[in-house]
Amino acid sequence: MRIITDFDGPIMDLSDRYYHVYQLCLEKVKLPNQILNIFPKAKFWAYKQALIPERQLGIESGLTVEQAEVFKQLRDRHAHQIQYLPFDLVVPGSIAALEKIQSSGSELLVMTLRRTCELEPAFKQYDLARFFLPHYRYCLPNDYIKHDDAQAKTQLMVKALSELKPDPNTWMIGDTEADIIAAKTHHIKVIGVLSGIRDRDRIEHYQPDKIVSNLAEAVEFILE
Ligand SMILES: [Mg+2]
Repeated sequence: MRIITDFDGPIMDLSDRYYHVYQLCLEKVKLPNQILNIFPKAKFWAYKQALIPERQLGIESGLTVEQAEVFKQLRDRHAHQIQYLPFDLVVPGSIAALEKIQSSGSELLVMTLRRTCELEPAFKQYDLARFFLPHYRYCLPNDYIKHDDAQAKTQLMVKALSELKPDPNTWMIGDTEADIIAAKTHHIKVIGVLSGIRDRDRIEHYQPDKIVSNLAEAVEFILE
C-alpha cells in the first residue's frame, strides 16, 4: 500500500497565517481614519474555502475598489513569505494519523506545492521529517514560479510515478482540486479532506472517490 498525502490542508492548517496576512494587508492599505469591517476568523476562512477572490474580500471588508487592488497584490506578496510560516498549525489528529500509517508498514509520501525552503521550516517546527524519507518528499524547487496549481501538482505526480515501482494500491489525500486532478489524471484513488482551503461544494465538484473531514478519517478509511 502506498499513501501520498498533500501537506497544506491534510497536515497543516494555514488559516491563522492567511488571517494574519489579511489583517496586516488591510492595515497597510487603509487610510488613517478609514473604518473597516474586518471579518472574524471563521467568516474569513469560510470565504477562502469558497474561493472568494481577494479583491472581493477587500471590498467587503470596507476597502474601495482601488484599495482592494493594492490589497490583493500585497496579500499575494506576503502570504507565502517565510517569516509568516510559524503561524501555521498542525491539523488536530494528523500526527497520530501519520504515526498510524507508519506503523501499518505502508509507503508514505508527501506531495506539496510548497518549495523546499517552505517545507523544511514546517518539518522542523513540528518534527515531521521523521514521517517522510528524503526521496519521498515531492515538493517544488526554491526557484519555481507557480502558474497553475493543478498542472504543477500533476507534474509532481508524473515525477513520482516515474521514480517509484508501480503499486496498484495507491491512495492520494488532498484538500484542493489540484490534488484530485493530479490523482485522477493517473487513475489513482483520491480522498478529499475538508480540513483545508476548500469547502465541500468545491471538492464535490471534482468528484474524488471519497470526502472526509480530515487526515485521521482518511487514514482510518484506507487502512480498514
Ligand atoms: Mg493542499
